Amino acid sequence: MKHGNIALFVPHNGCPHCCSFCSQRSITGVQAQPCAQDVHEAVKKALASGGEYDYEIAFFGGSFTAIDRDYMVSLLEAASVYVKNGSVRGIRLSTRPDAAEDEVLSLLEKYGVTSVELGAQSLCGEVLKANLRGHTAQDVAAASERIKAHGFSLGLQMMTGLYGSTPERDIYTAEKIIELHPDTVRIYPTVTMRGTLLGELFMSGEYKPMELSESVELCASLLEMFSRNNIEVIRLGLHYSDALVRDMLFDNYHPAFRELCESRLMLRRFLAQREKMQPFERCTVYVHPSCVSKFIGQRRSNVNELSRSCAVFVKTAPDESVAPLDVRIEPEYSPENTQKVRKKRKNAAEIT
Ligand code: SF4
Repeated sequence: MKHGNIALFVPHNGCPHCCSFCSQRSITGVQAQPCAQDVHEAVKKALASGGEYDYEIAFFGGSFTAIDRDYMVSLLEAASVYVKNGSVRGIRLSTRPDAAEDEVLSLLEKYGVTSVELGAQSLCGEVLKANLRGHTAQDVAAASERIKAHGFSLGLQMMTGLYGSTPERDIYTAEKIIELHPDTVRIYPTVTMRGTLLGELFMSGEYKPMELSESVELCASLLEMFSRNNIEVIRLGLHYSDALVRDMLFDNYHPAFRELCESRLMLRRFLAQREKMQPFERCTVYVHPSCVSKFIGQRRSNVNELSRSCAVFVKTAPDESVAPLDVRIEPEYSPENTQKVRKKRKNAAEIT
């Protein structure tokens, strides 16, 4: 059965923190907060829409356990009705690493919470400090241990391209996240929004956001790292919203960001396999049926790059037996073209 989230966004109105990337303070008034009735309505609507889903009620917003306690309990009480009657599998929520003490985790257990996600953002102390997160890398590690000790599924969220970060520091964060053994990860490339500290730093020339192409290269590497460690990346890139596109100050957002990264990852896997093979000019690449267009790339970017830079011409074919994002190469060998390819390869600039 497919997993589905019945998502409710719970803003932290009056949040005492001032993270560099957060535009909450620039919003006039307060953002609407869902009430218990909204939870009932959202669940009933999802259940009535049909479809075979294994649902979790998801309280997103990033600070769920730091909001007013009575209000938090009222939402959990509403959601727990559906956990108890078996209509949904459980409740997932996202919160801050410094708001996940044993006392509140025990309370979450009582209401049928199944998954707790922490907004780690970075595990590099300097980056956390520069972006005014108000917690340390040690807080993330300690909270992760507590969440697992309470039996919850652990999710960790990281951001790439923050102020003061570098691709090496983002890779370091991923390595540290892997050491914490989360069940799931979300990766959000930083988008510089109007009304934020990052926006001011960008306008003054102090902060240089990461270009989209750089971000794709980096996140393809992160995908590979998490995949090798059997950690599922359940989100890569921000959800589209009109406000996001309207208020971003630097254009490095792509609505199909994950697809760009997966496409890059498949190209790298192809090149790694090809390195170990006898030279060939033509081949058939077998990929999982869900990955045919990813391997080909947007506007045929991968197949064009292979023919231009490596003198390799590929046909792509679906094969259920190939794991998603993997590739299986079947080369077409003939004595003449092997010689020809050796010559061409010498002249062609290889892709790295
Ligand atoms: S991102 Fe930071 S400033 Fe914004 S609501 Fe969350 S904790 Fe508060």
